[in-house]
Amino acid sequence: MPTDRLPRDFYHGLTDAALNGETPDAALLERLLTDPAVELMPLLNAAYAVRQHHFGRAVQVHILNNAQNGRCPEDCSYCTQAKTSAAGIEPYAMKPPEEVMQEAERAYKAGAHRYCMVFSGRGPSDKRTQQLADLVRQVKSNFPTLEVCVSAGLLDDEKAKVLADAGLDRLNHNLNTSRKRYGDICTTHTYDDRLNTLRSAQKAGLSMCSGLIVGMGEPPEEVVEIALTMRQLGTASIPVNFLLPFEGNVLDTPHGLSPDYCLRVLCMFRFACPSAEVRCAAGREFHLRSLEVMALYPANSLFLDGYLNGQGEERRRTYRMIRDAGFEIVSDHGVDELLDEITADTDPSTTAALTIGGNTTPIKSTEQLRPALNGAK
Ligand code: SF4
Repeated sequence: MPTDRLPRDFYHGLTDAALNGETPDAALLERLLTDPAVELMPLLNAAYAVRQHHFGRAVQVHILNNAQNGRCPEDCSYCTQAKTSAAGIEPYAMKPPEEVMQEAERAYKAGAHRYCMVFSGRGPSDKRTQQLADLVRQVKSNFPTLEVCVSAGLLDDEKAKVLADAGLDRLNHNLNTSRKRYGDICTTHTYDDRLNTLRSAQKAGLSMCSGLIVGMGEPPEEVVEIALTMRQLGTASIPVNFLLPFEGNVLDTPHGLSPDYCLRVLCMFRFACPSAEVRCAAGREFHLRSLEVMALYPANSLFLDGYLNGQGEERRRTYRMIRDAGFEIVSDHGVDELLDEITADTDPSTTAALTIGGNTTPIKSTEQLRPALNGAK
């Protein structure tokens, strides 16, 4: 317990500086992560005032489509799809367009604001880039209000332009960790390769989504450094992932994560990048546990139906959490309508037993990864 309470002005100062667009001081941001005198509840309250100013009580719900799973030649040590991972995933080649469309429809009906198609691999060939562009065109034409995001590895200027011309709204490419630590988590490509992909997206006029994975052994000052890099890049969307422990991954153990620390990280990102979409991404169920709902105060976005290969919480429970806390989802469908439509046998996240709370993350079944093949709505 902190012995000396900080005055309210400390927290008001954080809010005011963020709302006034002042460049945050790295040492102050680090202090939010490390100083026990900075109390969590007033910190959340101060971050919420910034979130509220930019996003009100809106929550953007994202659904990932793992459109090509595994067999990646890269060695990202946190990833179940890496060549070095022995996690028990079931790899498959790129899903056929009909399947991707059916899943886009499913995501739209499930209240998704954004549909993220994720393809494993180092980066797409020219031919594959054209295929991705065709998929983007199709989704945009069938569901004009659904924002489309693609995550497909490393891209150059030309490929980013092909996707932008097809109508892609946003490109995801995570920096994942600090420049200094990058070589520790991956040897097959560099931090600069990733940064260059983001610059190509920027040049092509694409909105950028880029985030990190917290809990890979990085000290708090490096988390701050990543936040300030995102601010400099003008990243529109920042998925803040907390390392999920997958049995068989090279990096299979999260370091230094507690619900308190995870919430502080989300608050710090809100102050560092006040108007960015800050997403409480992978690991919210696993690492925030009973404090999960508090993430909605600094963050304005989350994933539904789990992650690329890791199971998440039941869809119904996530909607209820949003509604119970008085937030609203950004969707053509209201949260009450969505809740009414869910029955246990159509909720894909209930098709396998959830064991979140154990020491490892349950891997998604093929049934969960390919709901269109299994007739789920
Ligand atoms: S490049 Fe992407 S899919 Fe491949 S190992 Fe790295 S994170 Fe995983």
